[in-house]
Amino acid sequence: MHINTNFRQLRPSYLFTEIVNRTRAYQASHPDAQILRMGVGDARGPMAPSVIAALHAAVEEQNSVDHFHGYGLENGEEWLRERIAEVEYKMHDIPMTIDEVFISDGAGSDIGNVSDLFTADNHVAITDPVYPAYYDSSVMAGRRILLLPATAENGFAPMPEENSDPYDIIFLCSPGNPTGTALTKTQLQVWVDYANRHGSIILFDGAYEAYIGDSDVPHSIYEIAGARTCAIEIRSFSKMAGFTGVRCGYTVVPKELERDGLSLNALWLRRQCTKFNGASILSQRGAMAVLTDEGKKEVMARVGEYKQNASLLKQALQAQGITVYGADNSPYVWFRVPDGYTSWSYFDYLLDHYHIVSTPGSGFGPSGEGYIRLTGFGTPESTQLAIERLQNKGALR
Ligand code: PLP
Repeated sequence: MHINTNFRQLRPSYLFTEIVNRTRAYQASHPDAQILRMGVGDARGPMAPSVIAALHAAVEEQNSVDHFHGYGLENGEEWLRERIAEVEYKMHDIPMTIDEVFISDGAGSDIGNVSDLFTADNHVAITDPVYPAYYDSSVMAGRRILLLPATAENGFAPMPEENSDPYDIIFLCSPGNPTGTALTKTQLQVWVDYANRHGSIILFDGAYEAYIGDSDVPHSIYEIAGARTCAIEIRSFSKMAGFTGVRCGYTVVPKELERDGLSLNALWLRRQCTKFNGASILSQRGAMAVLTDEGKKEVMARVGEYKQNASLLKQALQAQGITVYGADNSPYVWFRVPDGYTSWSYFDYLLDHYHIVSTPGSGFGPSGEGYIRLTGFGTPESTQLAIERLQNKGALR
């Protein structure tokens, strides 16, 4: 018997545990410190009233003989797929059919699950720093990985390197976590053309799509000519509507996407029917409420609040002479630590001096070293408090 020893190659995953441990230790030795948590990338409650009403109603259905829902379709309820195709794509002139939309229990699962479609010998390109699941799931699958450094010099948007071995699988995240960078139409077109030229597949993570504000930033990769023959799009209700605990997302696999004479859409349906018995009916009812006029208005008001928090944080840091990235199309603020610090030593400095918990950039990959991520997911009040501390407790150094 042989187990998957690729797990040995994983980087130790201590980021959020270490943040919690250091914060706890600091609080224990400074019981009066009012610590502001601006590190974790989680939404906060309460969820939107329309969603809560739909969740309550869905629970009542389960309390009934006639309306009880047992197993649903593995690719999700038709009414939700229909609404997603309509509201998220067709209304924006992006053709989409309901059998190209697969409801999931969140983007995180499908980022890993989609790996089932590809053999271990594929060469993977991953921008660095980025959401760690792309790297970790590729390591678990035993794939060769090339990290593409996302730096201030390339605007945190590395482009394909034509002189390297062609990438078979390309992970792109826009707007990105942790840098908050959003790829423009022109930048995405370069990637789509590259993928079509080399037969690569782009796995496009649109978890932060709702935060896009700039007009030259596409909301979907399918706005880019040629994307239907090379891209899978993964989306989530987590950051858009606070579904981080309830769990719902979706993955789009276009009918035109074929490799080795096989339809990836058909393979994905087969995979889901084998390994996934469908997302919870409760979360699908909740997701449906997000896509009503009222629900959208409510969730986008909260997204606007997170973005406003991020933007105010960015301005406060800029006022201290720091170069700050992100915030415009993202809940994240990303900045370089002053000379002489590492990500972790500056994490400690922010905690000790300002009682602010941040996320060290090095936790998102080697090129994140020397950076810090702050988030706008706090309340407007806690964000204001953080800003006052940054302004009043002496200059950042
Ligand atoms: N993709 C990115 C870029 C994320 O930052 C996250 C969560 O932080 C996810 C996916 C996971 O989202 P979900 O809650 O839908 O699993």
